[in-house]
Amino acid sequence: MTGKIRQMQEFFGLRVTGQLDSRTLDEMKKPRCGVPDIGEFRTARALNRWPKKDLTYSIQNYTPDMDPADIEDAIERAWKVWSDVTPLTFTQTSADSADILISFVARYHRSNPYDRGFDGYGGELAHAFFPAYGGDAHFDEDENWSKDLKGTNLFLVAAHEFGHTLGLGHSDTWGSLMYPIYVPSHPQNFRLHEEDIYRIQSLYGPPEYNDDDDDDNDDDTRESKFPTNSPAEESTPDMCDPHLSFDAVATFRGETLFFKDSFMWRTNPQRRNIEKGPISAFWPALKGGIEAAYELEDKDILFLFKGQKYWATQANIIRPGYPKNIHALGFPKTVKKIDAALFNKDTKRTLFFSGDEYWSYDETKMSMENGYPRKISSDFPGIPSTVDAALQHNGHFYLFSGSKQYKFDSKQKRFTGVQKSNSWFGCR
Ligand SMILES: [Zn+2]
Ligand SMILES: [Zn+2]
Repeated sequence: MTGKIRQMQEFFGLRVTGQLDSRTLDEMKKPRCGVPDIGEFRTARALNRWPKKDLTYSIQNYTPDMDPADIEDAIERAWKVWSDVTPLTFTQTSADSADILISFVARYHRSNPYDRGFDGYGGELAHAFFPAYGGDAHFDEDENWSKDLKGTNLFLVAAHEFGHTLGLGHSDTWGSLMYPIYVPSHPQNFRLHEEDIYRIQSLYGPPEYNDDDDDDNDDDTRESKFPTNSPAEESTPDMCDPHLSFDAVATFRGETLFFKDSFMWRTNPQRRNIEKGPISAFWPALKGGIEAAYELEDKDILFLFKGQKYWATQANIIRPGYPKNIHALGFPKTVKKIDAALFNKDTKRTLFFSGDEYWSYDETKMSMENGYPRKISSDFPGIPSTVDAALQHNGHFYLFSGSKQYKFDSKQKRFTGVQKSNSWFGCR
């Protein structure tokens, strides 16, 4: 519980004490969106995106607070906020088979196991489900909805909720639409914050402007028209090729990701299957060629490195402010790229491999440790002088070089074995 209060204080920019003080309580009582900022929604695989660009919605019922025409207008304008900056389209239909169902409901209305219901007037105003949970949006009927600022402005709240419907979590940037607290402001003056634009475009890409010249095959390609940026002509690497090497390997929410050119594989120990897909399907802004990657599990962040740039990602969202330059981490200017990175959970240090040297970065102090770089060969004897990818797993370091991986006891840095790089895939 203390940890959650701490996270929430951090999120709202309050003094981080871990105690429920009056300011924290005040912040919790403000009218807000009911989608949790912390806890399961941050860590569960809740954030994803729609696999098609033309979506339909249905307004299931109308609040008596407003004229139906004003409700439809507010909802339509809220969708337009997002369709203006993406290739997505939103069409109203009366069918129950609509992709997104919009309703005004009060109190207990358990529509699915994740729905906790509403709390009466004030407090929670609305909530919406991420695409993986259906995308529906619920507005608390106990609020006083309005087209202006006499009550709670429906357009502003709907535009925020539809961000969740499309796969965005909350933002801690004040002034962004995805900030969880309702901030009344004149809808006429509404402008989507650049952070919201950046985040939604990293899921769906920017709008498409070429309506004219591809009429002939429009219908059959509709479902797969996302700009995936993946060079279609590039040959797909064979996961069981005995010569297979990796560009980067990292843990990711209990799975392991293996990067190769513009593709990645993900292995899930529970499901025992291996998924493969273009890197751009997960992070549309990244085309591939990832050279190093590591996860900070506690913060739910995966870092990806390519040349002198690196990105912090949370699920399939690139964090605002990225990419950044690797030299900001403390590398000398002579370092032009990172070959491999691994986070050592026991020491809270990240090891960065570049050329025949490696660095140690203290994640707690957020600074490079003194005494580095050191030669890879002097601390990891018995492996080739350079490393392609690296991982800590079950108390061992796995250092990948070409088609082989070298296993070290991570506490004693003792070499304990060598295997094929793709031994993780169960090829025979
Ligand atoms: Zn929200
Ligand atoms: Zn609900």
